[in-house]
Amino acid sequence: MNILEQMREYGHERVAFHQDPQTGLRAIIALHSSVLGNALGGTRRWCYATEQDALHDVLRLSQGMTYKCACAGLPMGGGKSVVWLPQRGHAPTEAEARAMGRFVDTFNGVYIAAEDVGTTPQYIDWMAMETAHVMGGEQVSRGGDPSPFTARGVFNGMKACLEYAFGSPSVEGRTVAVQGLGNVGTYLVKLLVEPGARVIGADINRQHVERCVDQYGITAASTDEILLTECDVLAPCALGGVIDANTARKLNCRVVCGGANKVLDCPEEDAVVLKSRGIVYGVDFVVNAGGVIELSGQYLNYSRQKLDAMNDEIEATTAQILREGETLSSTYEAAIALGDRRIAAGAASKRERIHAG
Ligand code: NAD
Repeated sequence: MNILEQMREYGHERVAFHQDPQTGLRAIIALHSSVLGNALGGTRRWCYATEQDALHDVLRLSQGMTYKCACAGLPMGGGKSVVWLPQRGHAPTEAEARAMGRFVDTFNGVYIAAEDVGTTPQYIDWMAMETAHVMGGEQVSRGGDPSPFTARGVFNGMKACLEYAFGSPSVEGRTVAVQGLGNVGTYLVKLLVEPGARVIGADINRQHVERCVDQYGITAASTDEILLTECDVLAPCALGGVIDANTARKLNCRVVCGGANKVLDCPEEDAVVLKSRGIVYGVDFVVNAGGVIELSGQYLNYSRQKLDAMNDEIEATTAQILREGETLSSTYEAAIALGDRRIAAGAASKRERIHAG
């Protein structure tokens, strides 16, 4: 399929490629939708096997951002960018980041870059030396690490799932299995343990496990077992695609609700399997929107009070999606439908404003 056909399939507005002869930077920015507003999305640095893999990743990730922002009630569109590394572990440099910043700047603010896999607040600050349209740095740009806010949003979504499954939003006495004890996972553990949840956690990084055992008294599990652990809630907070139809049939939990993006391998089908097994699924892009709410809200100069209220709203939105999922094939379908309604409403009001003006 050629690039324009792929863009039509995903519904993209604009895709731009860039190569910088000085630094060797090869990058793609994908603007999926600007219907609801400018698009904020992370810059991923990754060693893709082929250019098509890099394109596929940026197309699907930017589409996901459109739905994440729409469901979060943000006046923001969806976009994402990727830097195609020449080899695995290729070290980030100021020169590369600044070249990327200049590329981002050509979008004049319709696309706003942020941190993602392979980029750090330092990388963001380097980009910010060349463009004002980047969020998540600590010195040159603002925003900082969004992980605590993402964890808080997951916690809010989890409360809605617990209420739906057990008739009470309380995590006290509940057993939660957390896969991935990195930034989001560790902040989530803290939020769970304080009100009395029992947490079982696993990570391929031993130090991350030890930190959570020492600081929060969690029970360590092996990475092979964590997904199928008997628990009330499974919270995937590591990588995407960890639950396929086969795994979904074997899970021993009542709720799936975690921070990882693209938790389900094939969401259209796997979410149906979860529903058929009576497992309550808090849709990933709805419950993990706390980080984008934080950075977008700061970009839009929202008050602290408004930002906190929008994060808390994740609980009500998740509850709405769980209810609407009852008459649809899955909660995933309900979340997509909610996003589509909000995007259609945004497009209609934009048309009205143009006619009125
Ligand atoms: P992170 O890199 O800090 O943490 C991920 C952790 O998962 C690491 O500790 C890693 O060792 C562990 N891990 C990797 N493979 C594993 C496996 N097979 N089993 C167990 N542990 C494994 O990343 P993060 O910022 O905490 O993000 C976690 C997830 O949440 C990612 O999917 C990310 O896309 C998503 N997410 C993050 C944010 C955010 O604000 N950071 C926002 C939205 C979504």
